[in-house]
Amino acid sequence: GIMVVPRQEHGISRKLMSPNALRVLYRLKDNGFVGYLVGGCVRDLLLGREPKDFDVVTNATPGEVKRMFRNCRLIGRRFRLAHIHFQDEIIEVATFRTQAPDEPEPETEVARETEHRHRRPRMLMDEDGMILRDNVYGTPEQDALRRDFTVNALSYDIANFSIIDYAGGLADLNAGIIRTIGDPAVRFQEDPVRMLRAVRFAALLGFMMEDDTRKALVAAAGTIVRAAPPRLYDEMLKLLLSGEGAKCCELLRQTGLFAALFPNFSAWLGVESEGFPHTRFGEMISYVDSRFQQRDKVSQPLLFALLFGDYLNEKAEKFRRKGAPWQQSIDAAVAEFMGEVCPIVAITNRVGLALRDIISQQTRLNKIPGRRPQTFIARRDFNDIIEYYRITQGGKKGVTKQLEWWLAQAEQQEPLPPPSGFIEE
Ligand code: ATP
Ligand code: MG
Repeated sequence: GIMVVPRQEHGISRKLMSPNALRVLYRLKDNGFVGYLVGGCVRDLLLGREPKDFDVVTNATPGEVKRMFRNCRLIGRRFRLAHIHFQDEIIEVATFRTQAPDEPEPETEVARETEHRHRRPRMLMDEDGMILRDNVYGTPEQDALRRDFTVNALSYDIANFSIIDYAGGLADLNAGIIRTIGDPAVRFQEDPVRMLRAVRFAALLGFMMEDDTRKALVAAAGTIVRAAPPRLYDEMLKLLLSGEGAKCCELLRQTGLFAALFPNFSAWLGVESEGFPHTRFGEMISYVDSRFQQRDKVSQPLLFALLFGDYLNEKAEKFRRKGAPWQQSIDAAVAEFMGEVCPIVAITNRVGLALRDIISQQTRLNKIPGRRPQTFIARRDFNDIIEYYRITQGGKKGVTKQLEWWLAQAEQQEPLPPPSGFIEE
């Protein structure tokens, strides 16, 4: 049943909300429409966490929203959303809608743009093949119940500042539970990416997965590969760069998602090399987490270099033993790696190339004094190259001297205009 918690009985203050989101809500209300904050921001406000973004839903249609705001742009083809642009913030305004059967929502711009390449285009049709455009709009309750987890389905009503709970989200929030709305097996089948979202929210919020949700997730883990590869890449980035990457990876491995997403790498992690288990992955993701804590997120290429560097080097070694020169071996190793991973998790080409550069430039750092150090230091990926070196070689004999030399050179370096592209040797 629906539960409404009035203003006096909950801890959300408007002071913690984005002033722009409030402006949007009041404008909707003044024009006679319903305006709710929904999703992650209500959850985060109740937990005393700073929301990443503020999402608004309304009973106004996208066209009506556009007429209410000068700074509004409509986006999306299948489902139109209104983006209200402010100086340094965009407030997304969606019209209440029902869940379109079999139509998971692509989550990001990248996913939206590439969606058509990976999923059969499908319109909402009735038995006669008529497109039922208007049918996508729904009631506030339907809009809440199409969402993924109970704690993500809470609404904040600007009319009376109350919280509306259609799915038992408040109880789960207080108990620290991630639970799908409805049958978890069905919800994960509709959109397998929800499994990764469950992992991310459990890790980030420190929540437990509810029993049935967890069981259904483990049972469906192998079906994660049905999701669009660019979307899986986006979602993996969110997990790995969340600041709780280690916890996320632990959950991914426990549930079988990791083995499904990275079958070859996962098998390799379980095998020893030269009598040693592969333990560096855990250390690396913890390092990535520590950089997040220092508000200094690692770049995507460095992230993948740290996580997959040992695996890549072992592949490269294999090519080298067959007689390939070292640089070519690394190229071949990265190509093989991308060929394995990208059909499931579409690491972008740009990141693949930059990852290759970080690995293949490592040998440059061993020689001091280096050849043409200024050119090398001016590379835009110099910091990533040296950081990878520091993390993977640091502590080894003689390495401190090398690091000090390169860092001293970098300090002396007059700041140059940024290079127009990577400088190839
Ligand atoms: P974050 O802190 O990462 O922004 P969030 O909960 O706000 O977390 P978003 O990806 O911003 O997540 O999505 C906003 C809301 O849209 C969610 O809270 C949820 O209600 C709904 N939602 C997002 N993705 C899905 C999905 N795949 N299936 C169902 N509902 C979803
Ligand atoms: Mg959000």
